[in-house]
Amino acid sequence: MGWEKFFGHAATVDYLRKNIASGKFPHAVIFAGTEGIGKRTAADICAAALLCDNPVDGSPCGVCESCRLTAAKSHPDFYIVEPEANKSKTRLIKIGQIRAMQTEAALRPINSERRVVIIDGAELMNNAAANCLLKTIEEPPSQTIFVLVTANLSSLPITIRSRCITVHFDRLPPAQIQDALIARGAEFDEARRLSVIAGGSFGRALTLKDSGGAQLREDAFNTLEKISRGEFNNEDIFTFGATVAEWPRDRFADFVIYIQKILRDVYSADVSEPLNPDLSERTAALNISEQKIFALMETGTTFHRRLKSNASLRLMAEAYLMSLRKIFR
Ligand SMILES: [Zn+2]
Repeated sequence: MGWEKFFGHAATVDYLRKNIASGKFPHAVIFAGTEGIGKRTAADICAAALLCDNPVDGSPCGVCESCRLTAAKSHPDFYIVEPEANKSKTRLIKIGQIRAMQTEAALRPINSERRVVIIDGAELMNNAAANCLLKTIEEPPSQTIFVLVTANLSSLPITIRSRCITVHFDRLPPAQIQDALIARGAEFDEARRLSVIAGGSFGRALTLKDSGGAQLREDAFNTLEKISRGEFNNEDIFTFGATVAEWPRDRFADFVIYIQKILRDVYSADVSEPLNPDLSERTAALNISEQKIFALMETGTTFHRRLKSNASLRLMAEAYLMSLRKIFR
């Protein structure tokens, strides 16, 4: 796969292609940007082009032996480090993974002129792993290129950031995402809703399209409306808890975020661009005092943070709604 199928980020792609074509691709680079924005795809295309025997204008040729090996995920000079889940299901990159990578990265390339190492989820390196990587990035093996991919640049140690060139993948404008969704067969209204809630990420828009993300925001809005009108009884709460118990944790996290964004729109309707412009009328109709909004948002923040613990999702969902309800009483 080459750049022709890569969506958006024209200036960034142009910069990367020029650097690949001129042989000036940095030895250590960080691709930073929100989840689903395309940074890993871009890293994969860069790797393919850097390993390719006959790259064309910074793009992999797609037909040489190296390209075929890359496509088959068996190129001996292409190394990928990704977070692994530990016993408590926390995803981490451990020092052992970095050491194993270093052993390979120090060897001469086998098939191509160079080696490429992608470290995806680089912010999930623990301290030991980050320190271990730092040594390699300070004095990188001359034939090896490191691409660190991260959705949370500020979580990477400054020592690592300062030794890498950072390439930012900015959020895409909603109109661009909307057009691309329509081009992929989405209905106009659905494309508009998804482009708004995708937060500038086309990948996220596609995920939301497949997973009913627009419906989740609708559910969040309905729940907040009902609670604000005092219509959410205990039975509703337990029914909700039973539903959430079946969800992945991320989905409930998204639900909380949707409520936070709706509250933020209610609070700052007059002073800033709404996060949910397509819901403006309904947001305006939500009559919630400023004091309550702050209390509600604080509750959301607390529960969103607690989601990182191992507490039962069902109990947490119920406690969250009870806390919201209490604020209206
Ligand atoms: Zn090739």
